[in-house]
Amino acid sequence: MKQKLFGLLMVAAAAHVSAQVTDAMIAKDDTNSVLSWGMGTQGQRYSSLDAVNTKTVKNLAPIWSMSFGGEKQRGQESQPLVYKGKMFVTASYSRIFAIDVKTGEKLWKYEHRLPEGIMPCCDVVNRGAALYDNLVIFGTLDAQLVALDQNTGKVVWKEKVDDYAAGYSMSAAPLIAEGLLLTGVSGGEFGVVGRVEARDPKTGKMVWSRPVVEGHMGYLNGKENGISGTTNATWPGETWKTGGAATWLGGTYDAKTGLAYFGTGNPGPWNSHVRKGDNLYSASTVAIDVKTGKIVWHYQGTPNDSWDFDGVNEFITFDMDGKRMGGKADRNGYFYVIDATTGKLQNAFPFVNGITWAKGIDLATGRPNFVPENRPGDPAAAGGDGKKGTSVFASPGFLGGKNQMPMAYSPKNKMFYVPTNEWGMDIWNEPISYKKGGAFLGAGFTIRPLYEDHIGSLRAYDPKTGKMAWEVKNNAPLWGGVLTTGGDLVFWGTPEGYLKAADAKTGKVLWQFQTGSGIVAPPITWTQDGEQYVSVVSGWGGAVPLWGGEVAKKVNLLEQGGSVWTFKLPRK
Ligand code: CA
Repeated sequence: MKQKLFGLLMVAAAAHVSAQVTDAMIAKDDTNSVLSWGMGTQGQRYSSLDAVNTKTVKNLAPIWSMSFGGEKQRGQESQPLVYKGKMFVTASYSRIFAIDVKTGEKLWKYEHRLPEGIMPCCDVVNRGAALYDNLVIFGTLDAQLVALDQNTGKVVWKEKVDDYAAGYSMSAAPLIAEGLLLTGVSGGEFGVVGRVEARDPKTGKMVWSRPVVEGHMGYLNGKENGISGTTNATWPGETWKTGGAATWLGGTYDAKTGLAYFGTGNPGPWNSHVRKGDNLYSASTVAIDVKTGKIVWHYQGTPNDSWDFDGVNEFITFDMDGKRMGGKADRNGYFYVIDATTGKLQNAFPFVNGITWAKGIDLATGRPNFVPENRPGDPAAAGGDGKKGTSVFASPGFLGGKNQMPMAYSPKNKMFYVPTNEWGMDIWNEPISYKKGGAFLGAGFTIRPLYEDHIGSLRAYDPKTGKMAWEVKNNAPLWGGVLTTGGDLVFWGTPEGYLKAADAKTGKVLWQFQTGSGIVAPPITWTQDGEQYVSVVSGWGGAVPLWGGEVAKKVNLLEQGGSVWTFKLPRK
């Protein structure tokens, strides 16, 4: 009897051990689970699965939908994670749910208690969680990290990242790399200081911190670890102290280079005339050695940004001509191909029409060829006394040629599938001074569509030639992400509510399904008991209805929601 009981305990212990997510599992990224935002730390959003393919996708059917419930709807930008038959999905207002993937039954939920006075700039969104060991970890709108037990939903640890009353918040999914939990911060419209932090995912204890505004000190194991850059080299006076560069979309990691790649947001304030210089490392990609917490290289897309061209977009590593490269579709309208090891620019091409702020990118220097007359004018030159500077028309508008919605790369077809938007804005500068917790813009703007027939367009680009292979236009701006598969499919959602699948080679739409609210989140796929599943979160919101000017009027017919849909092929 004793022996039998001991045996049972051993089995139970073994089951518990095998249920833990490890670094090796995250690095291997097999098709039976979805362990990270980006479907692999490189962020390719590619799955080799091919049971659902160009021939069978017409039979793809919903098997369940689960509502996030309550009165709390608004934008749902979350990418679900899947492990051992459980789905972990975050929702608006800092909520997280665990769901049985086969039945859609809710296993548990956690609603983070948010204080009055949180200051998310762009809706109450969350983009997803990270899995490590027996934990599921996510960031909250009051700038905390919360780690919960995957099985029970009980809080295991909680850490305050920064002061929400100063404008800090968290909306990105954390990234696990080499046993570290890597996170950024949101709050670029409030003069925060952008940074990347590494913690022990099991305890939340800080390992290193690396500011991405030049002049600030980094830390490693509680000790000073060198200032980022050189104080005042690219920021005049005290401006670096409220320099922005929020790392609000999180990062990617490539085990081959040992580097984590984080994009950085706009410099603060938007009025560029008060911070003459490049304003490093704002509007850039910053490559950080995860072992040392030091910046190895940076590439700045928009030096001395004046248009809110946050450079946060995902840097997706891939192989080209036998070299490890990274692809990034920047909010400023240019697609960059950069050597992932050295940071040297290899190629740059526009992925939207009508760019006004620059005439191309100089491949030798890596710098944009600015069009000086298309920079909004200096309010000081207008005579001061609160007067506005000269207004200019700028394209893309500040919501960008691309925004938070992640693209996908197919190593099979060697193509990037980019969710793009074509819109412009009138923009002018105003005098501004920093006040804790106040919007730190010094700019006014109205965003406008450029074309009658579309704002959004899903586009397939060859990173080597910069040629567009195909596009699928969309009336409303695209705000979800993309998934591509070994079945030669590209999946994406639209604000009009459709999850669509197109032939990856031609762009021909082969299947679509109406989810009942707008989709502003990226789809995923995995296998459960040998069958291929596809899931996506539905729930219209995000920055567009809040900030979209004339565009918001165009999309205000769309209904809010909050649910996750799951699909598979019928059993034969
Ligand atoms: Ca911004």
